[in-house]
Amino acid sequence: MAVPQRRTSKTRRDKRRTHFKLSVPGMVKCAQCGELKLAHHVCKVCGTYKAREIIKQ
Ligand SMILES: [Zn+2]
Repeated sequence: MAVPQRRTSKTRRDKRRTHFKLSVPGMVKCAQCGELKLAHHVCKVCGTYKAREIIKQ
């Protein structure tokens, strides 16, 4: 089995991890109430989508 020839240094390890970023998945403002909501999803706060389709009161 292949084994690393030398230990990865702290610097090299941490440089690699600069690409591991936290990202909030596609949050947009609701057209109706202005709350942050997931893009392409019905707004949980006011129950609308594209400022129209009312799901429930
Ligand atoms: Zn809303």
